[in-house]
Amino acid sequence: MILIQQADVYSPTPLGRMDVLLAGSEVVAMAPTLDVRLPQLQVIDGRDKLLVPGFVDSLVHFIGGGGEGGFASRTPEMQLTDATLGGVTTAVGALGTDSTTRTLTNLLAKAHGLETEGISTYCHTGSYQVPCKTITGQITDDILLIDKVIGVGEIAISDHRSSQPTLDELRKVAAQARVGGMLAGKGGTVSVHVGSGESLLQPLYDAVAGTELQLKQFYPTHINRNMPLFLAGLQFARDGGVIDFTTSTTEYDLAHGEVAAAKALALALSEGISPMQLTMSSDGNASLPIFSPSGDMLGLEVGEVKTLHRSFVQAVREFEVPLQAALTAITASPAAVLGLHRKGQVAVGLDADLVLLESASLAVDTVIAKGKVLVKQGQACVKGVFER
Ligand code: ZN
Repeated sequence: MILIQQADVYSPTPLGRMDVLLAGSEVVAMAPTLDVRLPQLQVIDGRDKLLVPGFVDSLVHFIGGGGEGGFASRTPEMQLTDATLGGVTTAVGALGTDSTTRTLTNLLAKAHGLETEGISTYCHTGSYQVPCKTITGQITDDILLIDKVIGVGEIAISDHRSSQPTLDELRKVAAQARVGGMLAGKGGTVSVHVGSGESLLQPLYDAVAGTELQLKQFYPTHINRNMPLFLAGLQFARDGGVIDFTTSTTEYDLAHGEVAAAKALALALSEGISPMQLTMSSDGNASLPIFSPSGDMLGLEVGEVKTLHRSFVQAVREFEVPLQAALTAITASPAAVLGLHRKGQVAVGLDADLVLLESASLAVDTVIAKGKVLVKQGQACVKGVFER
């Protein structure tokens, strides 16, 4: 059992100074003071610290991605501490452009590996391509029968790397994900990769029109890619959807119109969008290819999971986003859209996924995942099997 004493708790709702008791993988008690006397009790001093939910990263390419510049441009796999040192205790893995040399079975195996090493992991079935590749043969069956599969994606639209799905194909993907999600008690979310194409989010509106589908089944990401897409994203949120900003960004992207995720979050909040309709994700271990206007690849970088924490800090300190709202975008909001009801909050009965941040700097001090301390004083005390 672990007792965290007198931390300033943001659930992400501010709860004030609390003692928080963890038993096994759950939070079992929270109160202004708790009198716990047990021989095996581990006590963590939370004074001068903020206690917040472990971060939920809704899009990570666990097994790497990329390859758009040939085989040598395939990006490497994520390691455990890539996530934990940045406060991430829950991560959702997906394939991207390449679903030939990157496979769903490999993604699922990596998710199990990371879970064994200490964090909570989930996967999306499918990839950029439609019709989707799946494990069982159907999106519905993957979501219903495979514990870790909670949705489908990234389905690519408005992008030269997309399979250019027809409206009917998009509708079928959303319908199958919805039924799988309902039957399995999961989110059944359709994660949508939105490129820099001029159609922006229009394919999602077109897919929904004249059907029983709802915009909120689609969870579009990279909405901070450029200002026209950002503005379309604001409208999508006003129309009831949830939008995601990508925190892995290259200097080149920023110089060519990408809006930093922290700034996008601040702008969207200032437009009156609810924090529960806004999320940030890292796109960790994706390739960040730099394309010329004609589609030629000019350069390549790799996305990092730790940019999620960096953008959260930037949102609060540089763009004056209230702490609660900035935290919501990386905890409660992504947990809700993905249907992860035990994640994203600090509350009795939920998973003991917690981060202690330095009050002043918001630096990650301690990371606890499923009740186990993985990071102490900013250093990894648990590493992945092949990490040194
Ligand atoms: Zn993407």
